[in-house]
Amino acid sequence: MNDVMVDVRGVHKSYGPLEVLRGIDLTVRTGEVTVILGPSGSGKSTLLRTINHLERVNSGWISVDGDLIGYRRSRGRLYELKEKEVLRQRTRIGFVFQNFNLFPHLTVLENLVEAPVSALRRPRHEAEATARRLLGRVGLSDKAEAYPRQLSGGQQQRVAIARALALEPKVLLFDEPTSALDPELVGEVLDVIKDLARAGTTMIVVTHEIGFAREVADTVVFMDGGAVVEQGPPTAVLDDPSHPRTRAFLSKAV
Ligand code: ADP
Ligand code: MG
Repeated sequence: MNDVMVDVRGVHKSYGPLEVLRGIDLTVRTGEVTVILGPSGSGKSTLLRTINHLERVNSGWISVDGDLIGYRRSRGRLYELKEKEVLRQRTRIGFVFQNFNLFPHLTVLENLVEAPVSALRRPRHEAEATARRLLGRVGLSDKAEAYPRQLSGGQQQRVAIARALALEPKVLLFDEPTSALDPELVGEVLDVIKDLARAGTTMIVVTHEIGFAREVADTVVFMDGGAVVEQGPPTAVLDDPSHPRTRAFLSKAV
């Protein structure tokens, strides 16, 4: 396994005339947690979406566990990968969304079994055993036969995390995983993410939960206007930010 799990180099991304990412450099080491903070519209979601190639970059490149995302290099030139190969890459990059995005017509167990069986061709009994183990890990063993609508938001998000883990990803990306939750349900989801951090899962977490960042992050990244303004250990970025924009953001957030 590579020491560097995610490497983002010089990434630019525009929507028409709007430049949303203005040359992002980011290195995430294997086994570490990176928390990304920043105001709404600063490009956090777009950055996550470029990492699993839901968005194509205009320039720069991204690698995950040593593999270029969306492209392959041959004789010094870059060639775009076919959709099927991109889908294969994407199975190694877990993504947890703000609004859970569970399949509403499938039971919790089926939500976890679907991708390993269809995308990775895992035998069904094996995928089910893994799914039940993962539901145990997020404290939802008794909900295997329930449908998403029968669960609270916090429970649905824990299912979404278990579903992402079912593909045994190299890295997990979280886009504001607790922003859609009632305040009393935030803790149970953050606790699951903390457990994963303790187990050495490599993660990038976009969140507004400063306390969580302080407790769990190895690196905190502050983004503003499509650029990384400041990054470093939480004690440096959160308690002694060097950039005025970071200070302004944190003074409003706390
Ligand atoms: P954040 O997650 O930090 O709030 P986003 O990455 O969602 O920021 O958005 C950054 C900017 O890009 C915003 O100005 C947003 O309106 C714009 N944007 C995001 N996605 C699209 C899209 N598909 N088409 C056009 N503009 C977009
Ligand atoms: Mg966003």
